Amino acid sequence: EYGPAPEGDEQAVAWLDSHGRKFGSFIDGTFTKPGKGFATINPANGKELAQITQSTKADLDRALKAARKATGPWQALSGFERAKYLYAIARQVQKHARLFAVLETMDNGKPIRESRDIDVPLVARHFYHHAGWAQHIEREFPDHQPYGVCGQVIPWNFPLLMMAWKIAPALAAGNTVVLKPAEFTSLTALLFAEICREIDLPPGVVNIVTGDGEVGAAIMDHPDIDKVAFTGSTGVGKAIRKATAGSGKGISLELGGKSPFIVFEDADIDSAVEGLVDAIWFNQGQVCCAGSRLLVQESIEKRFIKKLKARMAKLRIGDPLDKAIDIGALIAPIQVERVAELMKKGEQEGAIRYQPDGELPADGCFMKPTLFTNVSPANTIASEEVFGPVLVAMSFRTPDEAVSLANNSLYGLAASVWSENINLALDIAPRVKAGIVWINSTNQFDAACGFGGYKESGFGREGGKEGMAAYLRPTWETKLKALPASQKPV
Ligand code: NAD
Repeated sequence: EYGPAPEGDEQAVAWLDSHGRKFGSFIDGTFTKPGKGFATINPANGKELAQITQSTKADLDRALKAARKATGPWQALSGFERAKYLYAIARQVQKHARLFAVLETMDNGKPIRESRDIDVPLVARHFYHHAGWAQHIEREFPDHQPYGVCGQVIPWNFPLLMMAWKIAPALAAGNTVVLKPAEFTSLTALLFAEICREIDLPPGVVNIVTGDGEVGAAIMDHPDIDKVAFTGSTGVGKAIRKATAGSGKGISLELGGKSPFIVFEDADIDSAVEGLVDAIWFNQGQVCCAGSRLLVQESIEKRFIKKLKARMAKLRIGDPLDKAIDIGALIAPIQVERVAELMKKGEQEGAIRYQPDGELPADGCFMKPTLFTNVSPANTIASEEVFGPVLVAMSFRTPDEAVSLANNSLYGLAASVWSENINLALDIAPRVKAGIVWINSTNQFDAACGFGGYKESGFGREGGKEGMAAYLRPTWETKLKALPASQKPV
């Protein structure tokens, strides 16, 4: 069904053509006239897919005005009524699943197997789950109210899924949103906007403004926003936190990671190798919670690395629209350069690089799966987030050493622990400072489970009850705000 199609896919191409391959933003329920902007490129072949508009200040003001106007009627609906819209969105995502998956793969370079079997189904699940929440809000969160207008900025690695993580809970809680997709990957957000129109979502409840980081910063800084939510790099997250400090805006940040993948000597080695392939080479390693630091017990290190290299040699790299492909293209040439630069630094600092033999496809942003051994925790490649298909391997002798190596990071997003001894695994898990710890598994995401980080990986959770709480504020905050200055507690 998804055979190789280097020029893209007929249905996706027809959709792009139906918009003249030029897209404006989605404001107040309609698409704006396309304006000056930039090309969005298929990273697997370097071809332009469409032109995207760089939103102006006036566009943003209009989007925020529409979102503000929509808060009243949206909040006046009961949770049951809001749930109907969320269910309708989920069903439309399923109905257009194939188009969403193909478009995502063309715009982002991720293997179609991933967008088809992981991204899109998780998006539908997220809306179904939060439709459920919309119906329980009054009971589960008495004395809480929605923030109002949420400004949301997302990255390019899971364009559709990160959008669902932002929009579904915000809407369920009764907020309206102005969301900016990453400049590399706006297409599925715009297709999503069409779905909002198809299901007659009231205008202004969801607004999608396209553009680069400048537009992102303008959203975060805008005075008429009640809550900001950001997923992206730690550097930008820190800047946003500074910029919003003292503004009274709610804030949640989902940032970078350098997650440990800990393998004990009694682990089922074949399963751990398979798990590791998923942990680090899923989406070409461009995953915030990628298991990018292998910590393996010294007694099995040689055997494990040998099996891992053999498995790496079997990974298939190529046209991401080919459903037999394991590794697709990175997002853009600039990302390939960044990753290559970090790899060079790794070698300069003494690490040994392994990459399987074989030619990469001639065009496109392809990189081989890469393993670094002879690494010390202080090396750049072992401490900085690479956000590419690069794994570093280190060894430990005792469980205590494993924990201290795992925690020797500025980040704390995720971790994976592999052992056949459940007592050992359950002893280690809570000692690792990470927002989520998987035992004998990796990359398990579910709408019902809070996801988020410790330390420089950010704060706030997405998914589950904690994720809902992030889009509601206690009513006493509002009452407090309304008090005259003389009556406010000092
Ligand atoms: P990025 O921070 O460069 O960009 C993310 C988004 O922010 C884009 O939409 C961009 O246009 C916008 N942006 C850029 N500068 C901005 C500014 N000054 N103010 C406001 N918005 C701005 O990150 P990226 O390179 O697109 O994504 C990769 C990063 O995202 C990685 O560090 C990764 O770990 C992180 N990430 C984290 C999670 C998570 O859940 N923790 C999930 C996915 C990605």
